[in-house]
Amino acid sequence: MISMPEAIDIVLSRAAPLEEESLPFPDAVGRVLASEVTAPRPHPPFPASIMDGYAVRAADVPGTLRVVGAARAGAPLARDKSDKSSESDADHGRAVYITTGAPVPPGFDAVVPIERVRFPGGDDAGAVAVADAFSPGANVRSVGSDIQRGEVLLRAGDRVGPHELGIAALAGVAEARTRRAPLVAVLSTGDELADPFADSRLASAASSPDDLRPSSIFDANRHMLLACAREAGARVMDLGIVRDDPDALADAIARAVDAGADVVVASGGVSEGDKDHLKDVLLGSFGRVAGAVHFGRVMMKPGKPLTFAEISRTEISRTVSTGRAEDVSGTDATDAPEGKRRREKKTVLAFGLPGNPVSAAVTFALVVAPAVRRMLGWADPRPRRLQAVLAQDIALDKERPEYHRATLDWEASPAWDFANHDDFADVTKKKTNLPLARSTGRQISSRLTSMRGAEVLLELPRGPGSVAKGSVVSALVIRDIGTQGGLQMPRVRPTVVKPKSPEVLGAATSSAAGIVARRDDEKKVFARHRARAIAVVTHPFVFAKSASDLAREADVPDSDRAVTDEGNDDGAAVLEATRRFLRRAGVAEGGDAAWRVFEARAENGTSRRLAAAARAAAESSSASIVLIAPSGPGAVSSQAAVVAGTDLGFPGLAPRMRAALERAFAETMDGGEDERSDERSLDGEDSDAEDAIAALAYRESGFGINAGQVAGAVVASLPCTNCEEALREGLTKMLIVPREKWEGLVS
Ligand code: AMP
Ligand code: MG
Repeated sequence: MISMPEAIDIVLSRAAPLEEESLPFPDAVGRVLASEVTAPRPHPPFPASIMDGYAVRAADVPGTLRVVGAARAGAPLARDKSDKSSESDADHGRAVYITTGAPVPPGFDAVVPIERVRFPGGDDAGAVAVADAFSPGANVRSVGSDIQRGEVLLRAGDRVGPHELGIAALAGVAEARTRRAPLVAVLSTGDELADPFADSRLASAASSPDDLRPSSIFDANRHMLLACAREAGARVMDLGIVRDDPDALADAIARAVDAGADVVVASGGVSEGDKDHLKDVLLGSFGRVAGAVHFGRVMMKPGKPLTFAEISRTEISRTVSTGRAEDVSGTDATDAPEGKRRREKKTVLAFGLPGNPVSAAVTFALVVAPAVRRMLGWADPRPRRLQAVLAQDIALDKERPEYHRATLDWEASPAWDFANHDDFADVTKKKTNLPLARSTGRQISSRLTSMRGAEVLLELPRGPGSVAKGSVVSALVIRDIGTQGGLQMPRVRPTVVKPKSPEVLGAATSSAAGIVARRDDEKKVFARHRARAIAVVTHPFVFAKSASDLAREADVPDSDRAVTDEGNDDGAAVLEATRRFLRRAGVAEGGDAAWRVFEARAENGTSRRLAAAARAAAESSSASIVLIAPSGPGAVSSQAAVVAGTDLGFPGLAPRMRAALERAFAETMDGGEDERSDERSLDGEDSDAEDAIAALAYRESGFGINAGQVAGAVVASLPCTNCEEALREGLTKMLIVPREKWEGLVS
């Protein structure tokens, strides 16, 4: 008998992404893009005002200006009739009333917010006075500043959600190139089954369980599995209830294949009873369909009889009796040679799920849903795995590994101090922020209520014995987590580096990087953590909070705050300031022994690029990495958090990465590999083991989640449960620069 992981591998090896097709973008939500989407035009398409106020020439302010017209969003400059001046908009001393999103008229290059003008002659005197200087471009989004023409907006492999649709809409891209969604046909087998939602039952208001024959039960599986298939992104076909009759079963499956189904899902009739005909039907013993059965039993609980076969289409056209065969081959002939090729390739995946409803649900989640996702084009169609702490002892099955249904409680867990809690003290000595997994109760495979609210399947090994309460177990996610409530991590307030001078960023970089600016009385250049690579995360989509929110949250005295009038999308300023700081600190950039500064823009694929940048840095300098993430003080960039291996973006990620690293480390220890760099522990505080783990992390770093392994090196020595704690505990290598700390200070 094969194991469940083997079964998943076999299924995924037989499920290929379906053909590409084009469809209107709004219909592509839920699909995966087959090719990248680039911007056919810039956005904004004209220089646009960011504020309600007055368009001016920067060179004219401060000063008093005559108002010569108005430009509103959707209605560009209309000159006042009274304006007798020349048509040249560039003339001195003029202003144009402008609203947010309106085109800044030619000749004007800045917008003064309405709050910053006075009206010397009263509100409608036609003149405005501006007391401050504004630089060219102030409060103006230049052409293409949000989206450049030709910019890659979405990549092949991206899943289209509401926001991706919004991006396509904004860019005016009408058509999406995606993969076809598979057609999944679902049937239930069993003489005992009656349809709970049959028209006859729904029509009679008096419908009661009594209208069921004494030996009958309602068909739960078909309705459940149709909904599962839809949820996985498939189109569906309902084949109804099929009697325990092999010919009827073969007929139903042939009908699905003829109708173009990519997947057939049957439940029931796959065990060893004398009415269990599915395997024989799939093997072709009853004609109409014939295929190859890849496996018919899996070492798992629940779901042992799970069966997987492949039916080939060409077999069908030969075995179907009467005029039908001609129909099918006739269709193929008309679109040859393409049709011919398709005919060779085309197989239908057939799943025989066990009849017990829990087994059907669990096996669908573990093998059918991944197959559907692979067909849709998902790069990684497997269920997501996370770790959780058991809320109670669970006895193990002596024969088979078990997929135990559980709900997650995220609120209870971070608050648990396991060390101080008698029940848990033995198992977990330190605080964890893993969710607490609560069993859904009695797990017999007929008890479908054990699926109610189940968010994960705990992956429990075969017994004997039990897994103790408090143990950390891995779990496969089978539905949106948090649907039962309780997904509420405590809010994190990152430590804020107080500005000591206008050189805020320089000072912050210095402390984060562990280097100290050159000072005459001290030789402390490159002290302690000798970092040589800085990855700056610029995050154009994270906007600053309002100034009053900042004041309340950031706990920074007014005198130390400065909020600029410049636009928000200025993460690159951090990069520049970092470079300048390095220069001023007498540290050369580039070259072999020098610092390198990397920029990664936080948009799609950021973790990948950050990982690449961090990895390149690690390889070139075998040094630590400083991440600088511009952000509002109430939140940090989750991208940066992921890369730094903290838990803000993905709860439980950091401990998981660390565990993986430690495992890998234990394995390599035998090999005696030692990639320790002399530079990494100048102060001699770091242990050899930590160094080796760090080296391993660098080596193993890839992309996506693996990005965190790079970070694993950064946080390896910390009991890191979240960013705040990490910073408190002395993680000096990730710097969160609240936006208001650098806006206006780094120009
Ligand atoms: P089978 O796999 O056909 O031997 O069925 C195993 C158990 O699941 C039996 O108790 C069936 O009555 C039950 N069962 C099979 N199909 C369904 C269904 N569609 N809905 C609810 N229970 C079912
Ligand atoms: Mg049956």
